[in-house]
This record gives sequence, C-alpha cells and structure tokens, in this order.
Amino acid sequence: MLYRLQQIDLQLDQAKLRLDELIQLIENDSDLRKAEELFKRQEEITKDLEKKLHSIEHDVEQQLIKIEQSEAALYGGRIKNPKELRDLEEEVKALKRYLQVLEDRQLESMIVLEQETSTLQRLQNDLNRIQQDRIQQNSRYLGEKTEIEREIQRLENERLIATSGIEPEYYQRYQTIRTSKKGIAVSRIQDKCCSACGTTLTGGLVQDARAPDRMVICPSCGRILYGG
Ligand SMILES: [Zn+2]
Repeated sequence: MLYRLQQIDLQLDQAKLRLDELIQLIENDSDLRKAEELFKRQEEITKDLEKKLHSIEHDVEQQLIKIEQSEAALYGGRIKNPKELRDLEEEVKALKRYLQVLEDRQLESMIVLEQETSTLQRLQNDLNRIQQDRIQQNSRYLGEKTEIEREIQRLENERLIATSGIEPEYYQRYQTIRTSKKGIAVSRIQDKCCSACGTTLTGGLVQDARAPDRMVICPSCGRILYGG
C-alpha cells in the first residue's frame, strides 16, 4: 500500500512541478516587455529626427524666399546705384552659399531618418512576431495547465483512497522518510538488492519485506523495503 502511495506521490510531484513551470511560462513576459521598450525608444528617436528634418526644411524654404526677394531687388531695375547693386549681388551669393549648407544638412538628415525608420520597422516586426508567438504559446500553456490541474485533482483523489487503508503510524513514517530521502521512501527489492541504493540484502530481510504486516527498513539507505 505504501508502494502504491509512493507511485501516486511521484506522479503528483511531477504534475505539480510542471504546473509551476507552466505558471511561470504564462506569467513571464520579459521578452515582450523588452521588445516593447526597444520599439518605443526607437519611435522617439525617429520622431525627434522627423522634427529636426522639418525644421531644416523650413529653414531651406525661408532661405529660398530670401534669395528670391534679393534677386527680385537686384534685377528689378529699381536700384540704380552701382555700389548698392554690387552689395546686393554679394548678398545673394552669401545667401546661396548658406542655402548649400542647409541643403547638405537636409540631405544628411534624410539619410539618417531613413536608416532609423527602417530600424523602427524591424523592431515593429519583432514586436508583432513576439506578440503573436505569445498568444499562441499561452493558449497552449493554458490548455496544458487545465489538463495538469485535472490530473492533479484525479491523483489527489486516488491518494486519499490509497492512504485510507494505511495505518497512521506507517503513514507518518512514510512521510518522514519521503521528506528526508528526496521523495523516495519505499524501495523495491530487485535481485535481493535495494533498488534505491544498490545494497545486497540478507535472505532474512528479503523474506521479512514480503510479509504484508511488517515494515522492513534498508540497513544502508534507511528506506522502507518492498518485496512484492
Ligand atoms: Zn537501500
């Protein structure tokens, strides 16, 4: 009866271990949170770059307007003074030089923005994939969790039935040994040896262990011997 109880207990141990694993797997969303964080950070980087690019574009437009106005004055014919015209010509040249600087900046900004946008797209894809995987995985884990919980319930019932026929004193002893011997309290005798520790047993012990009303302990490992 104790041997039967042990078989149930070992199955229960395994089922409970798996249940703990499943709960951890279901609750662990570190991958998802990491992907979300990376995506958000990249989104901010991209937004900042967009703002920067818009501001440069605005500067380029303003510069073009200034050039247009200066050229209109230069070629409009209203200014006759040669010195004034020369100054205006220099001004247009200077405005165009700075326009070149602004346009270079604009191009640079566009290239960087393009790179960062493609990184953002990649992170978005990663995030979508992780979310998708998680939904699928969790539905699998939840299905298995329900099964395991049902299995545990079934084993608990079986255990109740199994323990009802065992003397309280023996049951207590079984529990104590099980706690101190890594979950294995009962060791089956195989070829006159204790199967848990491998010690060869005397003929007397083997015979005693077959008697259903006696509790025989392995002299080497301290477990209950089962001769059946
Ligand atoms: Zn032993």
